[in-house]
Amino acid sequence: MLTVGRHIVSGRVQTGRSHGFEKKKSAPSFRRITISPLADIDLKTVHVMIFSERVRNQDVWTWMARYCEVINAMEVMDIDGIKTGTRRFQVRLIRRQGALQHLPNTIQLGAFRGSVFYPGQPKECRKCGSLDHLAAACTMDVCRNCKALDHTTAHCPTPVKCNLCSSANHRFKDCPQAYSNRLKLSTLRSAVSLSQEVMIFFSDH
Ligand SMILES: [Zn+2]
Ligand SMILES: [Zn+2]
Ligand SMILES: [Zn+2]
Repeated sequence: MLTVGRHIVSGRVQTGRSHGFEKKKSAPSFRRITISPLADIDLKTVHVMIFSERVRNQDVWTWMARYCEVINAMEVMDIDGIKTGTRRFQVRLIRRQGALQHLPNTIQLGAFRGSVFYPGQPKECRKCGSLDHLAAACTMDVCRNCKALDHTTAHCPTPVKCNLCSSANHRFKDCPQAYSNRLKLSTLRSAVSLSQEVMIFFSDH
């Protein structure tokens, strides 16, 4: 036993070379196992490619936040400083019962479609979502709206869902979470609070 300051450190000191050698021999081999901290596996740099300036990064952020924890976002520019349509996000994937929850391969906001990719992302069929084949080899006739197999997208009985928040009550352009609508709302709110201030100002006199 050893006393260091107010702490007591105790342990067994191994003596003798042969004892140490035997222990090493019987221990399991860890040579093939690479140990990475959990946080490093879950952290991903995600590229989202949507070639339309009309798609706001804030909306892509809201969409991403349905599937993972978004840490930051930036627009990728070319050497002339022109937007390339690629947006880069730092995210932390979510685990459910220990299993990593991956992001979809595609994104659609209103009429705009794009692709989503990062290292280690499972490749899925863009049509039916299967992990066994890609869209070019897909033989499924899947409704793009509700993923059912017994009807086409044009004959879908399910109302078109908002592709930002997945609500069936509105479309993307009317989504209260869409950046342009939030902006309108906050402008409206500040206009209302301004008019209240004016009213208070007048009632004081
Ligand atoms: Zn498929
Ligand atoms: Zn359908
Ligand atoms: Zn919505």
